[in-house]
Amino acid sequence: MRIFTASLATETNTFSPVPTDRASFEMAFYAGPGEHPDTPTLCSAPMVVLRRRAREEGFELIEGTATWAEPGGLLQQQAYEGLRDEILDQLKAALPVDGVILGLHGAMVAQGYDDCEGDLLERIRSIVGRDVLIASELDPHSHLTRKRVENSNILAAFLEFPHTDFYERGEHVVDLALRTLRGEIKPIISTFDCRMIGVFPTSREPMRSFVDRIQALQGHHNILSISLIHGFMAGDVPELGTQVMVVTDNDAPRGAALAESLGMEIFGMRGRTAMPMLDTEAGLDKAVELAATKSGKPVVVADVWDNPGGGVAGDGTLILRRMIERGIDNVAVATIWDPIAVTFCLAAGEGAKIQLRFGGKAGPDGGAPLDARVEVLKAVQEGWQSFGKSRVTLGPAAVIRLEGTNIEVILNTNRTQTFEPDIFSNLGIEPASKDILLVKSTNHFHAGFEPVAAEIIYIDAGAPYPSNPKKTDYRKLSREIWPRVEMPF
Ligand SMILES: [Zn+2]
Repeated sequence: MRIFTASLATETNTFSPVPTDRASFEMAFYAGPGEHPDTPTLCSAPMVVLRRRAREEGFELIEGTATWAEPGGLLQQQAYEGLRDEILDQLKAALPVDGVILGLHGAMVAQGYDDCEGDLLERIRSIVGRDVLIASELDPHSHLTRKRVENSNILAAFLEFPHTDFYERGEHVVDLALRTLRGEIKPIISTFDCRMIGVFPTSREPMRSFVDRIQALQGHHNILSISLIHGFMAGDVPELGTQVMVVTDNDAPRGAALAESLGMEIFGMRGRTAMPMLDTEAGLDKAVELAATKSGKPVVVADVWDNPGGGVAGDGTLILRRMIERGIDNVAVATIWDPIAVTFCLAAGEGAKIQLRFGGKAGPDGGAPLDARVEVLKAVQEGWQSFGKSRVTLGPAAVIRLEGTNIEVILNTNRTQTFEPDIFSNLGIEPASKDILLVKSTNHFHAGFEPVAAEIIYIDAGAPYPSNPKKTDYRKLSREIWPRVEMPF
């Protein structure tokens, strides 16, 4: 038995001003055939699982390229076609194969391609023919298209958000694929379009119970796998939206019925699944009030929508500007993306006092740049933070203190959301000494910051991420979805 595997993944925010190209992949994660590390990345778990299963079970594994770009704006056409064709050529060289198992994300959009993954899967199908198995793991923040379903035998997404189960779901996809290749099961994919879009954190109710329940349903009564595709509201594509996907063992009627009943249940929860968020003024009122109690721990304020993990630039200034205007002090900020300002800080050197313009350069949505006299406390060739067991680079980075305040800001060159408190301590800022920490992340920061925080406040500053689907100027969305209409059915 011969299996080919590869991974091509990013999450495209079609509203973002930050273009994505091949260098974006090479900077974030790129492993040529055989070069993938022993540890999985978010979207390449199947490759690592397959290596182990191949050793244990004695089948032949042919590895192609595995690569990932930090979420950003529309992918350059030549970059997409280049990476796609690289993988297709590797597959052609590997023929004949019995199966193709991929690590995808599912929200990649390139110039001229609204459905990159559908295009990739369709081309793979035409190369390998109808009788070869095609299976993929997906991120739930993706778009599920007809083309993908038609050209796949097995599709399954992570169930958890934060995505703590990406490796387990990689195991799940590989396991179903191997069972299919041994003739034990005949997978059929059924889907249901919930005609809505929302935010579905599973670290809280009602999603916690929903996910626990669908996990319990898997493995019984011909039900092999269940996934909720949350959808990705920052990707303007025709099939944007939430969908339920059920894979059965040759039992399409049961798959369709279950997908519909679970899908209508999700539709019934519309508007009640996201974490509670405050607007900027109310959030800062609460932060100031809590900080005044001097619990010895900082209040953590999450700028939910200036999260580079959702593809925005991460150079937003909206909340920091209001903090400065309101005289809120003893604050540390991680991070504001500004390669130019970092270059200036490196040139001026640590200890220098300079007039600096920082943030707000990528576009108008994140707020205007800030101008201040600052002291350069740190200027280094590489800042970094932990994310679980992995190390995330900030690239060249600087810490500045605004004159006359105890407001310190980390400026970075490599766009990344805030994951862990060591983003501060690695650059000499003691998080516990601050009243307020302002971080840029939607929910992934929660695991790292919860233990050190007096309290966590989620602020919805209204920008720059297109977080309100009612107002977002979708040009390609092809059908009515909630909340753009009250009742899409
Ligand atoms: Zn995701």
